[in-house]
Amino acid sequence: MKLGVLKENTDQRVAVVPDTVPKFQKIGIEVLVEKNAGAAAQFSDAAYQEQEAQVMDRAEVIKQADVIISIHPLSAEERQSIRTEQWLISQFEPFNDKEITPALEKEGRNAFSLDMIPRTTLAQSMDILSSMASIAGYKAVIEAGRLLPRYFPMMITAAGSIKPAKVLVLGAGVAGLQAIATARRLGSMVEAFDTRTAAKEEVLSLGAKFVEVEGAADDSGAGGYAVEQSEDFLKRQRAEVQARAMKADVIITTAQVRGRKAPLLVPTSTVEQMKPGSVIIDLAASTGGNCELSKDQELVVHQGVQIYGNSNLAELMPQDASTLYSNNLHNFLKYITKDGEIEVRMDDEIISGALITPAPKEA
Ligand code: NAD
Repeated sequence: MKLGVLKENTDQRVAVVPDTVPKFQKIGIEVLVEKNAGAAAQFSDAAYQEQEAQVMDRAEVIKQADVIISIHPLSAEERQSIRTEQWLISQFEPFNDKEITPALEKEGRNAFSLDMIPRTTLAQSMDILSSMASIAGYKAVIEAGRLLPRYFPMMITAAGSIKPAKVLVLGAGVAGLQAIATARRLGSMVEAFDTRTAAKEEVLSLGAKFVEVEGAADDSGAGGYAVEQSEDFLKRQRAEVQARAMKADVIITTAQVRGRKAPLLVPTSTVEQMKPGSVIIDLAASTGGNCELSKDQELVVHQGVQIYGNSNLAELMPQDASTLYSNNLHNFLKYITKDGEIEVRMDDEIISGALITPAPKEA
């Protein structure tokens, strides 16, 4: 089987890195790479060739590959050059893009969506959402430090003492926990919120304070994901956030509810209570933002508060992000293939979860 790796149009990452190529070969998969696909992540064509991947033009990759991998889905126009017997593997996000599954179905496509792999222990090594969220959480703190006009740690110097920065993390999933760990490592004081009860222990174990708001909706049937909260709960939560935001130097927001608009946790009125120079990094910006003033991929300054919305921060660390993505993809392909061919076992929850088209037949 031949795996075709395309250059991303709008992202610095690449889905397969040179070091993973031999691992693919070991499971009977040849790797074809579009010219310059890894350049923005510092992986040269020569590095792929050294690992015996074939480097070629995009059209040739598309012609020869049995499986086409791209991090961002190909547009409808680009899909016209793909034959229906070829497999597409990408991050289609059918929970957010309601049009994509019907469109792929209509075209008669075979497609796996990596973001639909269930968040189970067995699937952990294939979980691109976790790998990318973890990088985003780390990078959120680094970006906050870049914008913040002060130190994270406490400093005692001959010229005077500096108090540690206060960091508030909203949403303690994978990204939030990594943000907490990174902010703690840098010596700041960290508080965190989450609606999932399971998050409390994890937050405490990282040395942060867990802020509780009573009466969150039960999420036990949501596969580990958060569920939408009532307006009354969110109102009480916003009041609690406001009280802490006034003292915070940095707020990192990561709160998301799969398939829904992100909950509004930091309204403009809260931003207006914050200290000038403080920073909000909003990782939920692409789904509406946790902060009312966030604009995805933009830095907004409101009354001296800097609000940077970016839901794709992993892209800003393209080398490590690509390496982890590539490992996740290899683990997934190893799981779904036998003797180098894809085997669709619909009784397997990882495979049936990730397969978005063709739709499973009714029994
Ligand atoms: P996510 O990106 O969907 O959401 C981020 C966080 O926001 C979540 O922790 C969520 O509870 C929280 N949130 C939602 N609404 C909120 C609100 N109003 N206020 C505060 N916080 C709010 O989450 P994720 O990081 O993708 O993780 C989703 C789940 O999957 C988590 O339970 C995580 O532990 C679990 N997970 C399991 C595995 C595994 O076992 N293999 C791997 C990764 C993640």
